[in-house]
Amino acid sequence: MKKELIGLTFDELKDELVQIGEKPFRAKQLWQWIYNKGETDFDKMSSLSKDFRTKLKENYTLTHPKIVTEQTSVDGTRKWLMEFQDGARVECVYIPETDRGAVCISTQVGCAQGCKFCHTGTQKCQRNLTAGEIVGQVMSARDSYGEWPTKTDENRLLSNVVVMGMGEPLYNFENLKKALSILNDGDGMAISKRKITVSTSGRADKIPELADIGVKLAISLHAPTDEIRNKIMPVNRKFPLAELVKACREYQKRCEHRHYITMEYVMLKGINDSLECAEKLIPLVKNLEVKFNLIPFHPWEGCPFECSSNNTMHKFSKFLEDRFIAAPIRRSRGEDIMAACGQLKSANKNKEKK
Ligand code: SF4
Repeated sequence: MKKELIGLTFDELKDELVQIGEKPFRAKQLWQWIYNKGETDFDKMSSLSKDFRTKLKENYTLTHPKIVTEQTSVDGTRKWLMEFQDGARVECVYIPETDRGAVCISTQVGCAQGCKFCHTGTQKCQRNLTAGEIVGQVMSARDSYGEWPTKTDENRLLSNVVVMGMGEPLYNFENLKKALSILNDGDGMAISKRKITVSTSGRADKIPELADIGVKLAISLHAPTDEIRNKIMPVNRKFPLAELVKACREYQKRCEHRHYITMEYVMLKGINDSLECAEKLIPLVKNLEVKFNLIPFHPWEGCPFECSSNNTMHKFSKFLEDRFIAAPIRRSRGEDIMAACGQLKSANKNKEKK
């Protein structure tokens, strides 16, 4: 069976070339074809010798995830259902902003964390995605916008990557690390680390390592106390708030670029949206540089929650902002195509593990 090259690090690619009797220095040209030009057909790699191309064709494949469906929202948000070689599927979203745009990618098929407010979390975790499948989602998104070869920063539509789709990235850490190093490589897709954000539900033991990688951090916080968080996020029983906050402090201490941390906070009526809750958040984030993102909750069939009223959300936001903590209410994007936060799901298309 032919081996897939997308997802190998540059050093691994060099080793592969040695295996087929080629000189390792040829890896750089091949790397640029794959990640800078987005080429998947070895025959079209015109700067490589015919002999080399033949060997590549005989031994390897280059596969971007297949786009099964593509929907574009009235606000320009685009959602794809992407399929991998074994038939597993994830949803991937592009969120345009005025001067940039972020591709939201997944790291697992389904999710084992079971956050109670999250539609995605109702789909069992089938498996981790490989590094190639993680990178491949950005590649297919670029295919959809024809954004090859890699453009300079100012001209890119797909300028940022947020690892916030299906799954808990820090439970697929080795593949995530590999994928981030490929996305960041200057000879390939060249997405700078400050334009990559990894979001975690709170696997505290791995958070400081994200500082060493240099990417930005978002925490799905959603509650000011263990009592509330335990009820809506089972991960909190393993990594309670004190541990999570300690890990955030360590991240910021180790982070060379002093990135601020985004605290995601979904607004759930009567659960976490009182001013007492807002008040309890203040000591929690003391000495941390944070920005809150207040997310209107999007109800889904069978969920036990409702979204807080506009008035409550504005009061909550103002309470924090009056105390010099940024807390904008996030504008919902792509709600009409079920692409908003926590709405991603592909269970009906995937075989779930029994
Ligand atoms: S919020 Fe994130 S970690 Fe929690 S269930 Fe949803 S996808 Fe999983």
